[in-house]
Amino acid sequence: MLYLFLRFMIGSALFSFACCTADRSLRSESFVRGRSHCDSCGHVLSFRDMIPVLSWLLRKGRCRWCGARIPVHVFVWEAAGGILCVLILQYGEGVLFHRWMLFLYVSVLMIMSRIDRKTCRIPVFLQYWSAVPVVLDVLMVQDHPAESVC
Ligand SMILES: [Zn+2]
Repeated sequence: MLYLFLRFMIGSALFSFACCTADRSLRSESFVRGRSHCDSCGHVLSFRDMIPVLSWLLRKGRCRWCGARIPVHVFVWEAAGGILCVLILQYGEGVLFHRWMLFLYVSVLMIMSRIDRKTCRIPVFLQYWSAVPVVLDVLMVQDHPAESVC
């Protein structure tokens, strides 16, 4: 049970970072520099303001400093990352390292889709070709079922 919780929190934290990365790149901000802040009042967030899923629930979707609404998609994005991480790591095929790589690959695809949803800049052929590694991966795992035991 502890593993499930930890995997959920790691997945939601990674998707929270992915969401932040996508949003900052859309605003031409660096996602490496600068601390997380409220988009409304600009207050720098503390650790307890940035616990994925839990902070949003505890603050009822509002900034602790100015009371501005934090969009519900932030909560959904973080929760989806946690659930996806649990599903892939718990029930996915292959060794643990392979499942982590699959989750990270899905995370990158989610960043791309989030950016493309707002900008429509990612060419369609690149979107289709990004599915090729997943298809090959599924085929390779099914060809070697004995290796899927971790
Ligand atoms: Zn605020």
